[in-house]
Amino acid sequence: MIRVLLGLGSNVAPRKNYLRCAIKKLGDIGGILQVAPLYENPPYGVSDQGPFFNTAIELSCELPPGKLLKEIKKIERSCGRQRRFRWGPREIDIDIVFYDERIVKLKRLTVPHEDFHNRPFVLQPLVDIAPDFIPPESKKTLREFLRECPNASKLTLLSENWIEYDTTN
Ligand code: ATP
Ligand code: CA
Ligand code: CA
Repeated sequence: MIRVLLGLGSNVAPRKNYLRCAIKKLGDIGGILQVAPLYENPPYGVSDQGPFFNTAIELSCELPPGKLLKEIKKIERSCGRQRRFRWGPREIDIDIVFYDERIVKLKRLTVPHEDFHNRPFVLQPLVDIAPDFIPPESKKTLREFLRECPNASKLTLLSENWIEYDTTN
């Protein structure tokens, strides 16, 4: 069984519904082991857009990385993601932050996610569900990465138990 840590975000209304849609469909390609609390966060990169809701999940799955990315893109589309410019507003964004302790370098996929260590909105929800996870080729836990990450104070915790999910499959 592969343990995958995914980061999720939405900054187009209704943000919570988009996240729920994605998590429900992710449950069809693997087992949802944990869902992190929901956070609100100012936009990242391109600042002229609405604030994000962010969360993270732990998923067990058997798909190889490239296939997992394909499924994830399908889920983004089927939940309503429109094509816009990079780092622009998005209904739903699902990033593969970690794929077990493996390093993946494919044409369209780099895991660990290249920028995870700079993003409190990725690190904080991951720390909530996997604080002691040590990324490949590093000696630090996610908790330590978060401690050293700039801008962490801009995150707002909205809700701890914001979604019901099925852990039986
Ligand atoms: P960022 O990756 O900086 O968060 P983004 O999520 O806004 O940017 P997208 O437009 O969602 O970027 O995706 C652009 C491409 O990034 C995807 O089509 C995918 O092929 C590629 N990609 C590379 N590494 C990953 C990863 N770890 N998880 C998801 N997509 C990835
Ligand atoms: Ca992203
Ligand atoms: Ca993405």
